[in-house]
Amino acid sequence: MRPSLLDPLFASASALPGVGPKTGKLLDRLLGDADRPARALDLLLHIPFSCIDRRNRPKIAEAPIGAVSTLKVRVAEHRPPRAKGPYRVLTEDETGDLTLVFFRANSGWIEKALPLGETRWVSGLVELYDAYRQIVHPDRILDEAGLAALPPVEPVYGLTEGLFPRVMAKAAAGALDRLPPLPEWQDGKLSRAMGWESFGASLARLHRPQTPQDIAPEGKFFTRLAFDELLSHQLGLRLVRARMQVLRGRPQKSDGALAARILGQLPFDLTGDQKKAVAEISADLASDKRMLRLLQGDVGSGKTVVALLAMAHVVEAGRQAALMAPTEILARQHFATIAPLARAANLSVALMTGRDKASERRATLEALASGALDIVVGTHALVQDDVAFARLGLAVIDEQHRFGVHQRLALGDKGEAVDVLAMTATPIPRTLALAFFGDMDLSTLREKPPGRQPIDTRAVNVERIDEVVAGLARALRAGARVYWVCPLVEGSEDSDLAAAQDRAEDLRKFFGAEVGLVHGQMKGRDKDAAMEDFSRGATRILVATTVIEVGVNVPEATIMVIEHAERFGLAQLHQLRGRVGRGDRKSSCILLYAGPLGETAKARLEILRETEDGFRIAEEDLRLRGEGDVLGAKQSGAPGFKIARLDLHADLLRAARDEAEKMLASDPELTSERGQSLRLLLYIFERDQALKLLRAG
Ligand code: ADP
Ligand code: MG
Repeated sequence: MRPSLLDPLFASASALPGVGPKTGKLLDRLLGDADRPARALDLLLHIPFSCIDRRNRPKIAEAPIGAVSTLKVRVAEHRPPRAKGPYRVLTEDETGDLTLVFFRANSGWIEKALPLGETRWVSGLVELYDAYRQIVHPDRILDEAGLAALPPVEPVYGLTEGLFPRVMAKAAAGALDRLPPLPEWQDGKLSRAMGWESFGASLARLHRPQTPQDIAPEGKFFTRLAFDELLSHQLGLRLVRARMQVLRGRPQKSDGALAARILGQLPFDLTGDQKKAVAEISADLASDKRMLRLLQGDVGSGKTVVALLAMAHVVEAGRQAALMAPTEILARQHFATIAPLARAANLSVALMTGRDKASERRATLEALASGALDIVVGTHALVQDDVAFARLGLAVIDEQHRFGVHQRLALGDKGEAVDVLAMTATPIPRTLALAFFGDMDLSTLREKPPGRQPIDTRAVNVERIDEVVAGLARALRAGARVYWVCPLVEGSEDSDLAAAQDRAEDLRKFFGAEVGLVHGQMKGRDKDAAMEDFSRGATRILVATTVIEVGVNVPEATIMVIEHAERFGLAQLHQLRGRVGRGDRKSSCILLYAGPLGETAKARLEILRETEDGFRIAEEDLRLRGEGDVLGAKQSGAPGFKIARLDLHADLLRAARDEAEKMLASDPELTSERGQSLRLLLYIFERDQALKLLRAG
């Protein structure tokens, strides 16, 4: 149970003073989750990313162009709009003139705010227009009393459409007022050495900065919070790990006969990295330690075979294995790969998803419970309450970052001493692997299976789309299959969908019934049918939103077109491109972009053209964008950080790791006074799942 001391932080943001129902909804959209509204805590941890310094108070003639200034002016003349133009107010001081410009403004309001002949303070971005200084829509128009109340440095928050800065600032201030005094959870010596203030004082300063340096990510207020977050994360990981170790494993012995039979079926040899991974996993399985291993390998690196060999090992040792994938499409695909190989080796395999007929599901449940079934492949349907295994020995979790901690552990909890193999196709740079996976053991497939042809990658301006379509026509005549990916339109799944539908319509004008469409809002069965048509070659151009991102395998597809490539992150582009180049034919990837491109977008497309090495791409991504986006944190439900930035705070991460280790060594149950305080920290950063393990253990 969460200590009641923290209750005010977990109250919904709409309950804060000054937050009405409309603002409440906007805050939910910005800071809430699908299953919960925004809370006061979310507002507090939504740190301003920038600030406006209103302390610059120059004379008009000295106001720097292109910067925000706060100026004392006399209102000299009102010029209401003639016909359509803006409303202009001419102002002056002893050094020069400044025009205030208002578009579509209410003239009554302007006359009242800027009375003729009076003196006012105006604050905003000073620009030069036709050699005259002007401010378009001043941020502030104040009299002397108003100026006295103006915060010298104003925080700037990430917003969502319809949510105005001042409303946001007010809500954040309301949340700050609710923050109760909390006991200190950081070590006093460390805090003193770093010059840190308390959690509350640091938050307060970030939301009410006195100088722009106050909110710098390298500054003491920010680093204090970043360290809090990193420490909570490290503690969470270590508590999970500790439980895995307490729950002893069971040696699963195999002489590799089954695996050898499967290997004999394969039309290829394992790569060196695959062999190494299989050996590492077999050693874990055979030992009496519990396995908690992450198999990381780029798209197409051949993780599925490795997983299958691990499962064969476990079956040979007399137990069952389960593979859980995040989507229906992926589960079906794994099943299609695994079933024939496993059956040829006399293993029984079934598929279980949320869409099974009741009779099918019953039969599978019975076979799992009786032990008749060796291997089951499925979606999170596998962790439902009525699923029971006779003797589950291995849980394989594909695309593990798409599951919550809870779901990940739940599959392992369906048996005794279950070994866990997690897989991810998102290459994690080494600097991040430590943070994200803590003490998980790591096997890496870096080497690609042989015979892969490099993917010819080009960036093409969307103005040349006609040439691209003509090129597709030629390729289709030669038998090619094509993915055409439409981008996420910001903030709206509907317009996202519309874009894909429009594109499919366009392409049908040229290619008729050869064009298929798959998007995230389709029913599961329709989605599978569309994928299936493409996979059989009934359709040969598949227009898709990013639903095809993960794992889909159609080796005949050789062309990938990505529309508005500039809107995708580097890692995502890499994943998408990985859908082609899976067979032995030459593949290409066309990155259609709408110019002009910014520096970062240009660099991203350039890196993609240069390399297909997912690890290198991940490092570059980190360098270009900072840690937050590497895993597409929000989209994929990855264990992202709200505050800490690993491109800047790598040292803090190491320190947090040491601190967590030291703390748990002396107080493994977090029962001491400081341990109790650290529990609060775990709740604040939502790593409290780990606390449940303490009680359960
Ligand atoms: P991923 O790591 O993305 O899950 P898959 O396991 O789907 O990759 O493998 C991609 C493709 O490569 C599959 O068609 C698989 O049969 C093939 N493959 C796997 N290992 C090898 C290998 N050692 N040599 C040749 N092809 C391989
Ligand atoms: Mg895969």
